[in-house]
Amino acid sequence: MPFHLRRQRLAAIACGALACAVTCAQAAEPAADRFVDIYRELVEINTTDSVGSTTIAAEAMAKRLLDAGFPAEDVVVTGPNPRKGNLVARLRGTGAHKPVLLIGHLDVVEAKRSDWSTDPFQLVEKDSYYYGRGTQDMKDGDAILVATLMRMKQERYKPDRDIILALTADEEGGAFNGVDWLVKNHRELVDAEFVLNHDGGGVVVENGKLLGFTVDATEKVYADYQWSSLNPGGHSSMPTPDNAIYHLAEALGRLERYTFPFELNAVTRAELAGLAETYPPEKAALVKAVLNEPPDQEAIARLSADDPILNSTMRTTCVATRLAAGHANNALPQTATANVNCRIFPGHSREQIRQELVKIVADPKVTVSYVEAGGALTPTAPNEQQLPPVALREDVMKPLHEVAAEFWPGMPVVPTCPSVRPTVGTPTPPACLRLGCRASPLTTMTSARMGKTSVYRCNRSRPGCSSTIAISGR
Ligand SMILES: [Zn+2]
Repeated sequence: MPFHLRRQRLAAIACGALACAVTCAQAAEPAADRFVDIYRELVEINTTDSVGSTTIAAEAMAKRLLDAGFPAEDVVVTGPNPRKGNLVARLRGTGAHKPVLLIGHLDVVEAKRSDWSTDPFQLVEKDSYYYGRGTQDMKDGDAILVATLMRMKQERYKPDRDIILALTADEEGGAFNGVDWLVKNHRELVDAEFVLNHDGGGVVVENGKLLGFTVDATEKVYADYQWSSLNPGGHSSMPTPDNAIYHLAEALGRLERYTFPFELNAVTRAELAGLAETYPPEKAALVKAVLNEPPDQEAIARLSADDPILNSTMRTTCVATRLAAGHANNALPQTATANVNCRIFPGHSREQIRQELVKIVADPKVTVSYVEAGGALTPTAPNEQQLPPVALREDVMKPLHEVAAEFWPGMPVVPTCPSVRPTVGTPTPPACLRLGCRASPLTTMTSARMGKTSVYRCNRSRPGCSSTIAISGR
């Protein structure tokens, strides 16, 4: 469908609509071919931090957009050094509203050839699967965004706001995060009313069954704390009650028995409501009881005990993950340390949680330090509070619901607050292959640090070729 007929749907550009723009049934075959062509070009440009260059990828995408008719002043490649370029392109709208910014990252995680069965910097299509570094995170999304903007330009689509595309460096690592750099150095290029990130959310599949379309609308905050107990030590033949290991062990026991308070915000409320639709009736009733005002405490307790995902959705969690103590079998321990890892519910600072932990420890002989990203310890933690969850704008959510309903009838669209999710997509038989159809990448969902799932959609070039398949992996 030409874009001028899809005006209402444009705000859903986050994932579904953009993906649709490339692969939907009505799209002409050349659009899908073009997508694969861009996808291949991106995968085959090494954009790792160590030896790669996002500038080369940014310039390749800039050339595509210029060739599609974008004026030179609306396509900019800029960055802090020759290897860390970012692309910013603007499709001009009528100006009725402030622009929307679409972001994606061009960089990929390092890939050693010896770890791969194929060259990681070559796009290989085999048995309906695409292989290559960045095929799922997120050169698929980048290619979808570029191909869609090109198509909009060529169809002379004029949205009611500028659509800005920023493809950036150093999201996976490295010292020059492109979004941060653009905001600090070229705010005028990326200034927008709101931002949509293709990297967060997508279709969730479990054993081939579509569970929902997630929209990551807020995130829990990651924090590590070191608990330490120090002691003069001594000979183990003459023990005293003052023992570093016992102090630490008892403090950890108090953490084990402690439960952080139940919390909900607009996003997790919607997430639970959406998840309830996918649960068997008894569990769904418990979730609904949690959503009551006031929430049902017994339902909270049962769900928290039975389901680690729901437990983590409803509160801050902190858990001991590493332990070290003592230096000799016949000596009283001089040190005992544990790492406590927390996933903090939005709205609290890391320092607030550190102070909570000090109260839980309730022992002046056990100190609670904050562990910085590089491993250094600091006596206090950063005190800035995370931004509140974004508003679930109707002009984003409604079209997303419509697009999801068109492609996957009955599948719920669920706003989510990821902390760590297990990889939800389980590799399924390549349905496209069975049907003899060709697969095109459609969208990708992030399952936090654990992995990613890409959903591929078979071309509808022949009857029966409309199913989706999921491929999971990192
Ligand atoms: Zn990513």
